[in-house]
Amino acid sequence: MNFTSRLLKWYNENKRDLPWRESREPYKIWLSEIILQQTRIVQGLAYYHRFLDKFPDIQALADASEDDVLSLWQGLGYYSRARNLHYTAREIAERYGGKFPDNYKDLLELKGIGPYTAAALASIAFNKPHATIDGNVTRVLARYFGITDPVNETKIKNQISEAANELIDPQLPGMFNQAMMDLGATICKPGKPSCNICPLNNECVARVKGIEEIIPVKTSKVKQRERFFHFFLLHTHNGNERLLLTEKREQNDIWKNLYQLPLIETPGVELTKKVMIQHPVLDRLISDNIPVIPEGRVQHYSHVLTHQRLQAFFYNIPLPSDYYPNFDGAYNWVTFGAFQKLGKPILIARFIEIFRDFFENK
Ligand code: SF4
Repeated sequence: MNFTSRLLKWYNENKRDLPWRESREPYKIWLSEIILQQTRIVQGLAYYHRFLDKFPDIQALADASEDDVLSLWQGLGYYSRARNLHYTAREIAERYGGKFPDNYKDLLELKGIGPYTAAALASIAFNKPHATIDGNVTRVLARYFGITDPVNETKIKNQISEAANELIDPQLPGMFNQAMMDLGATICKPGKPSCNICPLNNECVARVKGIEEIIPVKTSKVKQRERFFHFFLLHTHNGNERLLLTEKREQNDIWKNLYQLPLIETPGVELTKKVMIQHPVLDRLISDNIPVIPEGRVQHYSHVLTHQRLQAFFYNIPLPSDYYPNFDGAYNWVTFGAFQKLGKPILIARFIEIFRDFFENK
């Protein structure tokens, strides 16, 4: 027996007893699919019955007021589902004379019906061979074929969709889809699957290799780290030309070895005097009674890197003429022209450009 025959045999003997499976009426299948989109079966069942009692067919739903539909939906959340349900009932009543379109393409055009629901309706209600692909089906097929590449990558998604559409039984597409859903939900579960009672266990690559618990692999969506940078444009005049203070980034971090303006990084937006006096340059200015008061508006830029979002604040601090003390380490006074020749993060380059005229007019 091949994959499909084993699966269908298992389904016939083990299928879950769900009320919408007693019928091939598109209205009931659609209603159950929409209710179950973000809801567990146990909770969804009561709503399915309540909706059918109050709106036994699509015309009854189309004739209802939106308020009535929303009130019946209360407690299920994601209210756009209820609004779309009502909108689509009216569209089907008006545009299709109360009958659902019988093909995937037209179903997909209805509001609130995505590829999964369109495939479920097309296959279960109209016997069209369109495979439903969701987390359950993806997990079963990724394990069965031993796919260790991330299943949330487009290439792998397409591969799984193609495989499902090749495996689907063209005579019994609805049953195939429901069998896949049930196998994923009850046997090939997330975490530890029940391989010992799985109808596919003989040929399942993940099972044979003993890697069923690490599949499906997903690329993690790394949370972006938010950082707050305060840069100080400290500048003076030495009698001949204007100078500004640079800092070389030497730590193991972004922009290593590039040049920037003296920086204080803080855990949040706020910059306090207590933090400022921990910085060697600002501490020196404060000790020398130099007012560290920004001139003009503090400039703010957001800058997104691969895993970081930078909130950068720039403070323009003019210093008295001929005040350019030596600082140890990474800090140096340079002319604007010399600074322009140094490698800088784009963020700094954008900011300093605002001051080109000021520096070049000496
Ligand atoms: S054998 Fe195990 S891992 Fe493979 S499909 Fe069946 S339940 Fe899933």
